[in-house]
Amino acid sequence: MKNLLRVWVGMVFAASALPALAWGPHGHQLVAEIAARQLEPGPRLAVEGLLGDRADLAMRDASTWPDEVREQPDYRATGPLHYVNFPRGQCHYRARRDCREGRCIVAAINHYVALLADRQASTPTRAEALRFVIHLVGDIHQPLHAAWKDDRGGNDFQVRIGREGRNLHSLWDDTLARLGGLNVREHADQLLQSPMPGARLQWNRQATVAWAEESCRAVVLGVYPASADIDPDYLARMRPIAEGRMELAGRRLAVLLNQVLATGSADRRPKTDN
Ligand SMILES: [Zn+2]
Repeated sequence: MKNLLRVWVGMVFAASALPALAWGPHGHQLVAEIAARQLEPGPRLAVEGLLGDRADLAMRDASTWPDEVREQPDYRATGPLHYVNFPRGQCHYRARRDCREGRCIVAAINHYVALLADRQASTPTRAEALRFVIHLVGDIHQPLHAAWKDDRGGNDFQVRIGREGRNLHSLWDDTLARLGGLNVREHADQLLQSPMPGARLQWNRQATVAWAEESCRAVVLGVYPASADIDPDYLARMRPIAEGRMELAGRRLAVLLNQVLATGSADRRPKTDN
């Protein structure tokens, strides 16, 4: 097992040149694939109408789009919407402290869900909102997207794997997400083989807060390695946590879209405040 992991770590690093922005493409596409498979017929049609392609393909494509545009002038202000920072060791979300002017992932998800649910909004506006929802529901389940302000969610925490230097945030975004070496479809097949008993999947405005606090508690429970030298034991312990978070994100995204895009759900439009 250890040797296998070493081989994988080497291969993953050789292929990786991604900046630390969010779950890498594999993680986001996996979340989208899991969600797409669980859409009910009405919401599936709505997704396909908004994104203009078969739901699984369109959602996988949409899942990485907010990271692709965040450096562009029109979207530069969306950067802080990909995460929430807490004071070190404190996982109780307080909007006034942690999400000033709604500029954090908790408020952003609620904002974009409300836009998506608004049947009076234009198709391009709702399609863009859907792209953000697909992406941000993934991000909020990456533990280091709801972690400590003082090291910017592990971006300033340097680690090494062998001779490779890296920061902890990118290790989670990318390396851990695809450590098993499966492609997105195979990975979704594997994770969906068994249900997640007891998981709270329902979305409402408070659930978004709970998701961030849950990620933060995963950080407290051991996301930070004891040593800056990442060893196979750490990767073996963290891989099921990373996979569980991605699976949960996909299942919750499906429930959210089935709820918000259900025929006749316009009457149950969520509020936009946070
Ligand atoms: Zn992101």
